[in-house]
Amino acid sequence: MVVPASSRPRALRLPRLLSRPGFHLFLTGALMVLGFVLAHRLSERSGRDQLSALSTERLELYASNLSAELGRHASLPSLLAIDPTLRALMQTPADAEARHAASQMLARVNVRAGTSQIFVADAQGQVLSASEPLTPPPRLAEAQAQGRTHFFAADPTTGSTDFYLLHVLRQANRTTAVIVVRFNLAPLEATWVDLGARSQGERILVADDQDVVIMSSVQPWKYTVLGHADPSRRQALQASARYPQAIGADLELPASLEVHQGQQVLLPLPGAKPMLAQQRQLVPLGLRLIALSDLTEVRQRAQIAAWGGAAFGASIGLLILYLSSRRRALRQLTQAQTQLQQAHAQLEQLVDSRTAELRQTNDALKAQIAQRLQTEGELLQASKLAVLGQMSAGLSHEVNQPLTALRALARNSQRLLENGRQDAVATNLQLMDDMVERMSQITRQLKSFARKADEQVTGSTPLLDCVRNALLLLEHRSRAMDLQTDVDIPAGLRVRAEANRLEQVLVNLFGNAMDAMQAGDERRLHVRVAAQDAEQRVLVQVQDSGVGVGEAELPHLFEPFFTTKPAGEGLGLGLVISAKIVQEFGGTLRAVRLERGMSFEFDLSVDSWESRDV
Ligand code: ADP
Repeated sequence: MVVPASSRPRALRLPRLLSRPGFHLFLTGALMVLGFVLAHRLSERSGRDQLSALSTERLELYASNLSAELGRHASLPSLLAIDPTLRALMQTPADAEARHAASQMLARVNVRAGTSQIFVADAQGQVLSASEPLTPPPRLAEAQAQGRTHFFAADPTTGSTDFYLLHVLRQANRTTAVIVVRFNLAPLEATWVDLGARSQGERILVADDQDVVIMSSVQPWKYTVLGHADPSRRQALQASARYPQAIGADLELPASLEVHQGQQVLLPLPGAKPMLAQQRQLVPLGLRLIALSDLTEVRQRAQIAAWGGAAFGASIGLLILYLSSRRRALRQLTQAQTQLQQAHAQLEQLVDSRTAELRQTNDALKAQIAQRLQTEGELLQASKLAVLGQMSAGLSHEVNQPLTALRALARNSQRLLENGRQDAVATNLQLMDDMVERMSQITRQLKSFARKADEQVTGSTPLLDCVRNALLLLEHRSRAMDLQTDVDIPAGLRVRAEANRLEQVLVNLFGNAMDAMQAGDERRLHVRVAAQDAEQRVLVQVQDSGVGVGEAELPHLFEPFFTTKPAGEGLGLGLVISAKIVQEFGGTLRAVRLERGMSFEFDLSVDSWESRDV
């Protein structure tokens, strides 16, 4: 039953699909792409992790640096609060002397501590005493109102960010004054700029609680907003007077970066490279420290790793292709072996059945041969009888003639006896005896001729006797047609043949020759032998001067039932049977056309040449 391809189970179609070369090429391609993507991802991730770890370390360093810088003066305001000069000022704030003394003290401390400015303001923000003449920053009032201990504010003149430390002085739970220490972060920032210039791959920035960049290793980033600020917020920021200059364009960094979580960002700058952003919160100061690390190198490494992965994937694909084609080749080999074995088994079966058939055919042939032999024997006998029939007319003539003569002689003898002529009677009796002898000779020959031949070719036969016997059997014909017979055979020659059957052959050949010569005027039969094979064999030739046969008829002479004689006279078996008998004697019967007549020749094995006399 033929199953349509579409309805074949999937399980059968899948192995065929897997064994297709196209599928393996597709698989190799897919593995290449997979290898590329996986290697890229893994390499990029590990590169980013490494970069992130490095960046985190640096962030910690920057953070502690900034904290240390900011914390360096943290205790200065509280120390100043217990200074006697300032205490005296607090007692008499309006006193010019006290203010002057305090200002001088603050100027000294300012120089010693390395800060920018130190001043004391009253609750309304009016400066009571300062290390140098100054205007308090606009944010002071806001910070005081919020009770803050520090704040950042930009210096409009220098453009740098200043840090302010506050210490509130109270009396009877009421704010009387505030000590303010201001110091500048520009030197610290300068080191960052310097570091940033040296390390191209890293940028650092500090954003305040309003997401405005107040410090950065990249100067143009200063006073830009992280994330997006709409115009109203921008205005509000501008109005807050925190920043010395106009708020710059948005720095499109995500406003809420997770601490220690690497996140890829693309800076909104022409030709900007992808960066890894990380941040560190400085909670007490309300600041965020953000480090941006260049991802270019990580990406390049990921690209290289990706191509390595693709090559690996392709190798695996090719390996699978190799293994699968090897498996296919093995399978084909096994199939071929199985087919070979099957073919071998089939061949053996065929040979067995053919042998059996042959054996049967052989048996059938044997049976046919046996039947043929039997038929041939019967045919032989039939042909003999036919010859006998032919001869019967001649025989009756042959026997009648002596009988008539015998009767005449008997009557003549009676009369001679009556006349007392004893001598003449004796002569007649002798003649009668001769005639009886002749008749008994003929009947003896007939008897032996009619007898069925023995199977075996036995004994040695004197050839000349056989020829004579055969001629004797046909004597009535030869005499009637006035035939001249020449027999040229050595008297002592004995051949290996069975006498009766040899005679049968000769009778056949002589009879045919006489038939052929019946119409002609020259009637000559020549029987002769020629030695062959160093006298081991002889060729017996029966030559006549008859009509012969045509060239076209010659090949058909030895075919059964081929005859040119009128119906009732010829059977067409004589030559066939003769040839068969000669063959049994180990010879071959041939017909040769002569200039006039025919020569029928056959060879026989010589038993002995006792004498060469004819
Ligand atoms: P039959 O004598 O019964 O015809 P044969 O087998 O003896 O059968 O001969 C076959 C034929 O061969 C004869 O009919 C005859 O034509 C031809 N033939 C045989 N011997 C001779 C011969 N000596 N000369 C001419 N023709 C012959």
